[in-house]
Amino acid sequence: VRFSDFGLSPAILQALTDQGYEHPTPIQAQAIPVVLQGRDVMGAAQTGTGKTAGFSLPIIQLLLAHANTSMSPARHPVRALVLTPTRELAVQVAENVANYCKHTPLRSTVVYGGVDIKPQAQIMRGGVEIVIATPGRLLDHVEQKSISLSQVQMLVMDEADRMLDMGFLPDLQRIINLLPKQRQNLMFSATFSPEIKKLANSFLTNPVTIEV
Ligand code: AMP
Repeated sequence: VRFSDFGLSPAILQALTDQGYEHPTPIQAQAIPVVLQGRDVMGAAQTGTGKTAGFSLPIIQLLLAHANTSMSPARHPVRALVLTPTRELAVQVAENVANYCKHTPLRSTVVYGGVDIKPQAQIMRGGVEIVIATPGRLLDHVEQKSISLSQVQMLVMDEADRMLDMGFLPDLQRIINLLPKQRQNLMFSATFSPEIKKLANSFLTNPVTIEV
């Protein structure tokens, strides 16, 4: 299997060539076609398997397929939201996403707590299609109206088991209630506890399960 087999845009393939990635990892080979079909996904995958590109690449492709050609900030609403349990993971995912988007007109940013909120708000007011966030700080931005979640078409919950362990369930529920009902949901977790299954049942629709 090659990355060029998935029908990804030349801008994405160029970014992968720049990175020196030749072949998709097993989770990428499974996840990319399923996400491109618009299906919800429950992915059982540890860090190190390449899961970040597994969800990022098809999300970028779907956003490009329905790209808005206007450069006005108002025309760059948040369309994909990636939630992570920690600042470190958020930064790591955001670096990956920025790399894969670098030859596209799509904009992305990362928000997390423990730092000044104003510069983050300013970037988001300029318009970004993809936001990678920790749950608490995202809700701070919603409260101060530096972000609107009304146009989000795709939601990723990365390391969902850690988010539950860290007590983020109420924040996650608040965030999900702010999103359009019609959207694609991807959830990744290293473990499949009863709590994770319950979360998956409550917010995934007819998901495809991927295990590596
Ligand atoms: P992740 O599990 O998403 O944190 O990725 C683990 C590491 O594998 C990261 O350093 C990625 O840059 C790298 N990686 C992801 N996909 C590929 C690929 N298809 N080929 C080579 N390296 C990759």
